[in-house]
Amino acid sequence: MDTAFFVDWITRVAASVEANKVRLTELDAAIGDGDHGTNMTRGFEAVVQALDADDGSTPGKLLILAGRTLVGTVGGASGPLWGSALRSGGRVLADQPTFEGTQLVEVLAAALASIKDLGTASVGDKTMVDALEPAVEALRARLAAGAPVADALDSAVEAGEEGMRATIPLQARKGRASYLGERSVGHQDPGATSTALIIRALRQAVIGKS
Ligand code: ADP
Ligand code: MG
Repeated sequence: MDTAFFVDWITRVAASVEANKVRLTELDAAIGDGDHGTNMTRGFEAVVQALDADDGSTPGKLLILAGRTLVGTVGGASGPLWGSALRSGGRVLADQPTFEGTQLVEVLAAALASIKDLGTASVGDKTMVDALEPAVEALRARLAAGAPVADALDSAVEAGEEGMRATIPLQARKGRASYLGERSVGHQDPGATSTALIIRALRQAVIGKS
């Protein structure tokens, strides 16, 4: 995998969050302030533009640029969280021109660690961590067992979506939704929902399908 792979991934993420903008915003309207769809769409559109303007960065540098752009364009919690995630992921690859599936896991694990550091959320707090952590764990486990990257990502997508759905009965303990207390129960977390889209886009980038 190389720089073009990340450009493809990010382009797919931008298209996917835009296609799901209304749904993400509705989910956020129920337990937040109704801006998650527009936040993610605006942020990833800006990232696509920044990557288009970039000339020949390594994969790691490209992710760092993507993260910096997200932080600069998204005011909500998701901007700094995903922004720092992509920057941390990019730093894992240093100046390597290409990387393998095992390193993709390390990129995602660093992204997850960064989100958890900054947001202090754990699985069960009803946040994006509920989708990302099981996805990263599934990817790691399947690759360690010798599965091809595409198959391992199938499991990651499944685990992420299961984690996303599992946020419905939870009471939020982090972020804006936590202000609602028990009233946050019964709604799917918007950030976990967009995170599941981000993981699905990664799988699509690996198998090269729309
Ligand atoms: P805001 O809440 O500032 O309006 P967004 O609506 O863009 O930002 O994003 C909300 C999502 O961000 C939530 O659904 C949740 O998944 C995620 N989130 C909020 N706070 C945290 C946190 N401390 N740690 C991890 N994720 C968080
Ligand atoms: Mg919001």
